[in-house]
Amino acid sequence: MQVHRLKPAVVAAALVTVVVTAAAQTPITPPSNKYSPADDVKLGQDAARQVEQQLPVMRDEQVNGYLSTVGRRLVNAIPPDLQHPEFHYEFAGVNVREINAFALPGGPMFVNRGMMEKAHTEGEIAGVMAHELSHVALRHGTAQATKATPYEIGTIAGAVLGAIVGGRTGGLIAQGTQFGLGTAFLRFSREYEKQADLLGTHLMARAGYDPRDMANVFKTIEQESGPGGPQWLSDHPNPGDRYDYINQEARLLQVQTPIKDTRAFEGLQSHLRSLPPAPTTEQATKTGAGRNPSTGSGPRPSGRVERPDSQFTTYNEGDLFRISVPTNWQELSGSNAVTFAPQGGYGNAGGQSVFTHGVEVGLARNETHDLQTATDELIASLQQSNPRLGRPSGYSRTTIGGLQGAHTVVSNVSEVTGSEERIDVNTALLGDGTLFYVLGVAPRNQYGDYDSVFRKIVRSIQFTR
Ligand SMILES: [Zn+2]
Repeated sequence: MQVHRLKPAVVAAALVTVVVTAAAQTPITPPSNKYSPADDVKLGQDAARQVEQQLPVMRDEQVNGYLSTVGRRLVNAIPPDLQHPEFHYEFAGVNVREINAFALPGGPMFVNRGMMEKAHTEGEIAGVMAHELSHVALRHGTAQATKATPYEIGTIAGAVLGAIVGGRTGGLIAQGTQFGLGTAFLRFSREYEKQADLLGTHLMARAGYDPRDMANVFKTIEQESGPGGPQWLSDHPNPGDRYDYINQEARLLQVQTPIKDTRAFEGLQSHLRSLPPAPTTEQATKTGAGRNPSTGSGPRPSGRVERPDSQFTTYNEGDLFRISVPTNWQELSGSNAVTFAPQGGYGNAGGQSVFTHGVEVGLARNETHDLQTATDELIASLQQSNPRLGRPSGYSRTTIGGLQGAHTVVSNVSEVTGSEERIDVNTALLGDGTLFYVLGVAPRNQYGDYDSVFRKIVRSIQFTR
């Protein structure tokens, strides 16, 4: 659906402030969604369990109590038509340094300690929470899944979570591989971002906060984010003119009973200063702060693998496609991708699933509907977790399951072995605009053996719906 354009303030003959507010603000309509609110709750709870297992969620009463107080005010400001009685809003800090926050479908919300430490005012914390809360109330996670994924609901849990956690952490939690496919598949669209910004300003004003603090906190996030860039902004891309339209909307709103008391905020920040410094997310997940044993266990790939069998085995992947791979490769399912790899060619390193030999087949959401641009974006997202991945020098045409495709080979230095490897990239756009990709991985010095195997695998793909 289209985002409503900002309308000039309707000058209603208003008698009470509430009416003025209701008449003037930009109306927000939730996007279409094939899931039920109960699905949101279930997906969010599953995802929250993964968060608890993987990230150092704080048990600190002062921190969580503070977030709950601010969060509760915002929840009470959700307009009646967007209140879902089955949703259960809960708030907790995460003891990591990066400036980030995320909310899961159905209500669980997590705010990084770095976010609380760097915010200049309570209004800024409320701003980022109001934005997150708006995604939840508008059910953007499942609305996105409605648009994006042909996979069944079980696999969406990871996808939705990744959508919100994003990037490296998202890849980790979504049980993605070292390729961190999270970011391409999982960011919110700009359309949803604008909705969350606008509804967020409404929640702010109704809760007693200055809505302009939402624009301020986005600036804070931009300025204060350290190396690795502002994860929050890559998960919540700026639809353009973000500060302008937030401030413009803010002018249409009247702040109800403004909150002026800053003691709780100051108390929170001095309490945080008294704690040992927060680790980075990478440190926290590497040291296994509650890491999920099912994704964090398993040996490192040995790199000693049998040659690809000349016999192939065919697999059906949901109702989406059929693929044949060497018989001595195993199928390893991820949340939005499937990997086929030989024994010794896959495993775990640094808490992430990795593979040194084999193929990964998956889907990446994109908004461009242009094959080359979408493939560029996919490769850029791979670079986030593979910093030494090269750039494509160009694309050649290929065919995947009857669709026109693009092919390129990029170099990488394996995070596992430290040696050079080749990534064979094949992509095609599905009818709904989703990017379908096949990534073949092999060490550079064995690529000659694998190149023809990758081509044979790509040729075997048939779409089945
Ligand atoms: Zn957002």
